Amino acid sequence: MSNPKTIIVSNRLPLQISIEDDKLEVSPSVGGLATGMKSVHSEGNGVWVGWTGITDEELNPKLRDKVEKRIAEEQCVAVNLTENDIEEYYLGFSNKTLWPLFHYFMEYTVFETKEWETYVQVNQKFADAVIEQINEGDTVWVHDYQLLLVPQMIKAKKPNITIGFFLHIPFPSYEIFRTFPWRSEVLEGMLGADLIGFHTYDYERHFLSSIKRILRLDVNFNEISYHNRVIKVDSFPMGIDYQKFWEAALKHNNETEEKSDLQKRLDEHIDPKQNKKLILSIDRMDYTKGIPNRIKAFEYFLNTYPEYKEKVRLVMLAVPSRSNVPQYIKLKRETDELVGRINGQFATVSWTPIWYFYRSLPFDNLIDLYTSADVALITPVRDGMNLVAKEYVATRTNTDGVLILSEMAGAAKEMNEALLINPNSYDDFADTLKRALQMPLAEQKTRMKFLQKRLKRYDVEKWAKEFLNALNATKELQEVIVAKELTEADASKIKSDYEKAQKRLVLLDYDGTLTTFTDNPQDAKPDNELFQLLDTLEVDSKNNLVLISGRDKETFKKWFKNKPYNLVTDHGVWLRHNNEWVELERLKTDWMTRLLPILETFVDRTPGTFIERKNYSLAWHYRTADPELAQIRTTELKTVVTSMIANNDLSLLEGNKVMEIKSSNVNKGRATNKLLMEADYDFVMIFGDDWTDEYMFEEAPSDAYTVKVGYKKTKARYQIKSPIQVRAFLKELD
Ligand code: UDP
Repeated sequence: MSNPKTIIVSNRLPLQISIEDDKLEVSPSVGGLATGMKSVHSEGNGVWVGWTGITDEELNPKLRDKVEKRIAEEQCVAVNLTENDIEEYYLGFSNKTLWPLFHYFMEYTVFETKEWETYVQVNQKFADAVIEQINEGDTVWVHDYQLLLVPQMIKAKKPNITIGFFLHIPFPSYEIFRTFPWRSEVLEGMLGADLIGFHTYDYERHFLSSIKRILRLDVNFNEISYHNRVIKVDSFPMGIDYQKFWEAALKHNNETEEKSDLQKRLDEHIDPKQNKKLILSIDRMDYTKGIPNRIKAFEYFLNTYPEYKEKVRLVMLAVPSRSNVPQYIKLKRETDELVGRINGQFATVSWTPIWYFYRSLPFDNLIDLYTSADVALITPVRDGMNLVAKEYVATRTNTDGVLILSEMAGAAKEMNEALLINPNSYDDFADTLKRALQMPLAEQKTRMKFLQKRLKRYDVEKWAKEFLNALNATKELQEVIVAKELTEADASKIKSDYEKAQKRLVLLDYDGTLTTFTDNPQDAKPDNELFQLLDTLEVDSKNNLVLISGRDKETFKKWFKNKPYNLVTDHGVWLRHNNEWVELERLKTDWMTRLLPILETFVDRTPGTFIERKNYSLAWHYRTADPELAQIRTTELKTVVTSMIANNDLSLLEGNKVMEIKSSNVNKGRATNKLLMEADYDFVMIFGDDWTDEYMFEEAPSDAYTVKVGYKKTKARYQIKSPIQVRAFLKELD
């Protein structure tokens, strides 16, 4: 086996490739992600899988071969995409559906089935390219919204490979996400990963909420149980290459360095004595960045505080982006018009309020801008993170300068010392800008130092490391779970012991063990296949077959009236043995009349829940209720009944989407114990799924075969996936 490696997957490879007259130029790209991943990528035989930026149509076979060979030297593997792929998967579904929807621009979101289909196909191309690279023990890290389905596509073919997924944009609230026609497919696609990362806790929270409400999966804090896996969800705010910006700024500020033309122009406006200040904004030209908003708010500021006319200038760099998508064309036009109008309205002979650049600038010029700006005005209406805000802070080597940052940027969550604003409030905007312009130097420095300290420590490399460490930890978590999986070898050992044994006790829980849960507990009646299976076990005279359940006596009496199986009902109150019912425990039930009205108030206030009145217990079922509301109510219910419980010797059991209150003197463990005492068994086998069954596992002798259905924590020796596997196993016994 070769050394395990990390495979990075993103829409674009971290390379700039150009071809002129069959001559190939390849240079590394300098983006944040490329920097953060640099050490991960170059470590050992790491591989990066992605698109080169060149479509199939632009390449002939010879050239393609050349590109592939050349990028292989950079440890890169190309995913080949056609023009149509790019049109429908990238410009279409990624940028006209997912991008606006995830940024809360529902009115810009289009839902095109054809584009979705191409998105699926292209994701499959990425997954296939990754699968080709995978060796056992490798780790895969998939990035961003263009590749939401890739984790599941890889997991389906390579179930043992550890997969991480990181979303670089916001995850929207459930109320937005629920409108998306392919919501389940996308969530399931992401759940192929073992660790899912977001920039902020809010995005994580929104994602988990959709998981609970749309897929109705169990979420335990930040862990999701899905099929036979536990998936971790966490937030990892992405940082920047702090040192690079800091050092560039130091160099820039060095007196001996020659000044750029841009710097000379900027200097003309900076004059601390005359209180002339520069305000800077830098963004991609994107409707999420709030560019028109900002210009209008700046106009409002100049009207509200006219004393700043001729004193301040807004230098606004807008980097062209996705300029073939209609909304971006419209935004560009709107921005041009607004800048024109405001400059026309306020300009004097010696002053234009807004300097507007629509272009991208080389790194050195960006440093000119960052180091010259007294105030950075970063006010997106929605932004996954925003690295510009962080870069500004990293260039303030004199620790002066003020950052105004929109609350709607992910970065705001970790940049509390910035002046945070709601970008939709012009008053907030204008007052905060004034405050920033007047802020005493000492306060600027205190705030800036705090911001710098964090950014320096949690830089992009640290971000990548933390994510990978967490991903490795999930691997260990999976291994613990897999360790108890009932293997073929275990199954044949149990079978051979079974065959050798003379007196066997076979204890089977019913719901969730022999049958699958449904929304209506009445639907869980035994079917013919189950009857046949139980009949076979029952006729074997060496077997004492007992079905043990929390269900009430009446239900089991009805279901199994013509069957001779032994039954334990009501968690162990009643035993039917050789068709005779015996009461194992004598219980008081007067507490039920007192508790029932309380439970009813919970039903009234929690749609989708109901009470099941059993002979010895009250069960409150919440399977079809809103999962988040149910979570709140279960906590409430616990508090409310705690006092009653203590006085009446009751206990509260939390089952699968049900809370049951019953006497503490009865549980499946006590019943198990009684059964074990009845005879000298040389083979004991117990199956159960929820935690009421843990009592049985606890009472079982150490050489008993105890099996938990599902992959939750358990005292049982083995775990098995679902009732389907239980039935298959039991069938094998005969
Ligand atoms: N940037 C750039 N060229 C420019 C202006 C900006 O490469 O002319 C970089 C900037 O340094 C930052 C990135 O573009 O690293 C923008 O990242 P951000 O998270 O702020 O916004 P995004 O474009 O990812 O939405």
